[in-house]
Amino acid sequence: MQQGNEDSDYSEDYWIEWFLSIKGNEYFCEIDTEFILDKFNLTGLNTEVVHLQMAIDIITDNFTHTGPELSEKDREKLEHSASHLYGLIHARYIVTSRGLQRMMEKYKNGDFGYCPRVHCEKAPLLPIGLHDMPHQASVRLYCPMCEDLYVPRSAKHAMIDGAYFGTSFPGMLFQVHTYLVPEKTTERFVPKIFGFKIHEHAKLARWQERKRIEMEKKIQKFEQIKEKKKNSVN
Ligand SMILES: [Zn+2]
Repeated sequence: MQQGNEDSDYSEDYWIEWFLSIKGNEYFCEIDTEFILDKFNLTGLNTEVVHLQMAIDIITDNFTHTGPELSEKDREKLEHSASHLYGLIHARYIVTSRGLQRMMEKYKNGDFGYCPRVHCEKAPLLPIGLHDMPHQASVRLYCPMCEDLYVPRSAKHAMIDGAYFGTSFPGMLFQVHTYLVPEKTTERFVPKIFGFKIHEHAKLARWQERKRIEMEKKIQKFEQIKEKKKNSVN
């Protein structure tokens, strides 16, 4: 961010553009300013974001500050509020039709990475939250092929709050754009030892054990009969 003059620190930049360009923020899409300015979309966020109005002004490039210059600490606090607000609005935006469209483009582009599972053959992933409330858990990546969750590989991505994507986003995307649902693979990895499937091997071991017990019983019976015969002869 450029240092502006003392009464306007942010207005020379496009805050959203700057935010999206930060390394580690690649999972976020651009939110329309009209969406942010619609008070209805911000319902309940005043308890979650400190200095909500200032944060809104920052991310919509309307922030003007008059009076004594803000301290570095205050600037940091405001910047943090603005980023947190962007994340929380983001979760709401990406389940709207326009937001879904933007995220779908990123998904097709592989912006969220690919499934590390071999049999998923590099299926693109989608970000998902484990909770809708912030500060609970960081973002996870959902693979629509194996329907499992993964931790992002990059430490910067792994630190992002999962609430900035929410729990419903992938479900919503596939409900609206059903053609995106990938064909599931039935292929599974089967562990083997020297070419033999492990469960086959275990089955064989169990069969051998059963046969051994049966054989022991047979011998016992035979011994008893032999003993009886011996007694009757005597
Ligand atoms: Zn997968």
